[in-house]
Amino acid sequence: MEKSNGLQVILFPLPLQGCINPMIQLAKILHSRDGLSDTETRSHDINLMLTILNEKCESPFRDCLTKLLQSPDSETERKKQMISCLIHDSEWIFTEPLAKSLNLPRLVLNATKASFFRGHFALPQLRRERYLPLQDSEQEDPVRQFPPLRKKDVYRLLDEESEVLDAYLNRIYDTTKSSSGLIFMSCEELDQDSLTQDTSRFSNPNETCIPWLDKQEDRSVIYVSFGSLVTISESELLEIAWGLSNSDQPFLWVVRVGMVNGIKWIEVIPEEVMERLNKNGKIVKWAPQQEVLKHQAIGGYLTHNGWNSTVESVCEGVPMICLPFIWDQFLNARFVCDIWRVGLHLENRIERNEIERMIRILFLEAEGEAIRDRIELLKEKVGRSVKQNGSAYQCLEILVDHISSF
Ligand code: UDP
Repeated sequence: MEKSNGLQVILFPLPLQGCINPMIQLAKILHSRDGLSDTETRSHDINLMLTILNEKCESPFRDCLTKLLQSPDSETERKKQMISCLIHDSEWIFTEPLAKSLNLPRLVLNATKASFFRGHFALPQLRRERYLPLQDSEQEDPVRQFPPLRKKDVYRLLDEESEVLDAYLNRIYDTTKSSSGLIFMSCEELDQDSLTQDTSRFSNPNETCIPWLDKQEDRSVIYVSFGSLVTISESELLEIAWGLSNSDQPFLWVVRVGMVNGIKWIEVIPEEVMERLNKNGKIVKWAPQQEVLKHQAIGGYLTHNGWNSTVESVCEGVPMICLPFIWDQFLNARFVCDIWRVGLHLENRIERNEIERMIRILFLEAEGEAIRDRIELLKEKVGRSVKQNGSAYQCLEILVDHISSF
């Protein structure tokens, strides 16, 4: 990670999910402290901020990329083969000539809904056509160029943005058009109309459990996941399957491929159990966990208590049923259950009746309600610590100062 003031920080995580995630979070925090002044960072003018970012980052990014692509022994071609492409956000408009001069293919990653991305290029045209001012009678009219927005929506969009934005949008359009492909953080279920217009150019990340969660009642679903490393036996898989099925509580269960010793995935679960499971829940191979825990449908988390998962659960106020397997997970589970009292401990009893009993306590009984209240309080406390002048916030300030002093 290179800072515009010339300082560089190298982050080197172990190649394990639980180590990569916090390292990326730290990288994001450190990076967010770099480059823009306080006034610029606080600016609500997104257009101004993006312009400044493009100006400030072009030169250090060019230096960094050029260095990466050049080898001291001048085997440039060989090195070029090692870096196969650049993936950048659509708002980085300086990248086109840069990547071209380095002969590096580019993919554009877009963080808005595909239909917004397609539609928002119509804004300059709509402005030119003097969409404003708007009569009362036409407020609800659809906007052909930007479905499914209504005129009153576009009115607000145009009202907020300055004309300078039009030129910027045109640059984004050109930069995207000349790239080797466009990646959306979406899926057909959410963006069918826009994605099917040009599927060959898109890559759709699989987030199918979120639309399923959207259909569940608030705080009704038990999320079950044992992180990225834990393995279980075939009989443990079956006990969990029976426990979930007997509890009658909707569930979202992550079973990684290879997580169950000796089998591929979940093929040993008998058909009659699978039928019952499919009625009430969903089994997936991986889930966007932070998004899942944030979802209003989630009411509990049967967890292995890896530290990341424990923190993520606390931060979202999701009470836990603890089933630690290795290393620090035992201590984390004790804190959750005995010290903070925001979860129930399975005490390693991976038995269908015990799992069912715990789920019922958590979702249906007064004890579960009390646990829920306590984790709400803990969530608030932890939330305060990352806000300005909170304890974690202050520690980060110290860390940033410390790194800057090197
Ligand atoms: N994780 C995820 N989806 C899954 C399972 C795990 O995104 O289906 C993420 C989770 O959010 C957490 C990390 O993987 O950030 C696991 O880290 P943790 O320390 O909890 O456990 P470990 O995998 O190191 O045992």
